[in-house]
Amino acid sequence: MTRADLGLTATQAPRAPVEVQKRLSRVGLRPTRQRMALVEILFAKGDRHVTAEMLYEEATRAQIRVSLATVYNTLHQFTNAGLLRQIAVDSSKTYFDTNPSFHHHFFIEDKNALIDIPPTNALVGAVPAPPEDYEIIRIDVIVRLRKMRR
Ligand SMILES: [Zn+2]
Repeated sequence: MTRADLGLTATQAPRAPVEVQKRLSRVGLRPTRQRMALVEILFAKGDRHVTAEMLYEEATRAQIRVSLATVYNTLHQFTNAGLLRQIAVDSSKTYFDTNPSFHHHFFIEDKNALIDIPPTNALVGAVPAPPEDYEIIRIDVIVRLRKMRR
């Protein structure tokens, strides 16, 4: 297994609409108006981490008529298409990262904020050997933070 197999190399996220359309059609998703509207909102603000609820709120504010269930489905479809990366902070909180390249995260618990750990800030040194008959798909690290009390 190589570093690339583990996702240990950075890849550029597709940001151009044409590239997004290509990615969608490659996984059998038609670039519907609704999907492209959500793409617009998702990727217009650079790298960020959103929940389905956050995106639903933004879409509603932007006058896009879409249900929370559709937002959920779309986020999962985009994740399968490689446009987003899903990050489960805990069983009740799932974020979608508009930067699907390999990186780890800090999670500030009292703010519910997920922020990127800079790639220069190395974290995982040695990759553990997986059990027999298993291979490592990816390593996700979430470092949980709280403000220090003084
Ligand atoms: Zn991130």
